[in-house]
This record gives sequence, C-alpha cells and structure tokens, in this order.
Amino acid sequence: MFREGRPTRSSAQHHSWLTAPERRFILWGLKERWPAARIAAELGVNEATVRRFRKRYWDEPELILELDLYEMVGRAKDEEYKCLVCEERVVTQRAMQRHVLGHFLEQDNVDAFLPQVRKRRSNRR
Ligand SMILES: [Zn+2]
Repeated sequence: MFREGRPTRSSAQHHSWLTAPERRFILWGLKERWPAARIAAELGVNEATVRRFRKRYWDEPELILELDLYEMVGRAKDEEYKCLVCEERVVTQRAMQRHVLGHFLEQDNVDAFLPQVRKRRSNRR
C-alpha cells in the first residue's frame, strides 16, 4: 500500500488533523504491531495523535470504512470486492466491510458494529 512512499509531514503541518493516507498508515503500522511511538516518528506526528486515532476508530469503526480500504472488482452484478489490505476477494459489500474491519478490530467489535446478515428472503414491498 505504501510502495510509492509513506506520507510525511513538514514541521509546519505538525499540528494539522490526520489525512486519509496518514490514517491508513497508522492502521497499517498497528496491524504490523508497531508501537505508537514508531508510527508517530515515521509520520512526523505526535504519539498522542496516533493513540487518539486508535481509540477513535475503536469507538467509531465507520472511520475505517471511510478510508477506501477495498475496491469493487469484476462485474457489478457479482458485487465482488477486493481488500486492499490483503488482496482477498469477497462477495457483497457488507461482507467486505466486515472483512476490512476484521483486520483492525476484534471479531466481537465487528459483529457489534456490522452484524452478519442472515440469508433470509425478505418480503418485497
Ligand atoms: Zn483483507
């Protein structure tokens, strides 16, 4: 994901809020089990900023889903999506969102935020 280089800040930007690439980098670093201090040093942000973001996305998992960590592949009618974290392909957007969240949250948190849809015919209106 960071083949083209990681996001870095000039000192003038030191206190501005995290950009989407920076947030993706933090998620990636945490997934690689980097300590917050190392992620902060690589990005050029405060360690507290990294910790704050980590706490925020635990409380608000939709922040993870806003980061475009998956993309649609193949024909739209198949609803197939590719995870940009691990390249796994999953059918249906909801299943993909659950998959992406599963990279960064415990399964219980994923289920609480985005319960698995039961395969059941719903009544048409
Ligand atoms: Zn994945």
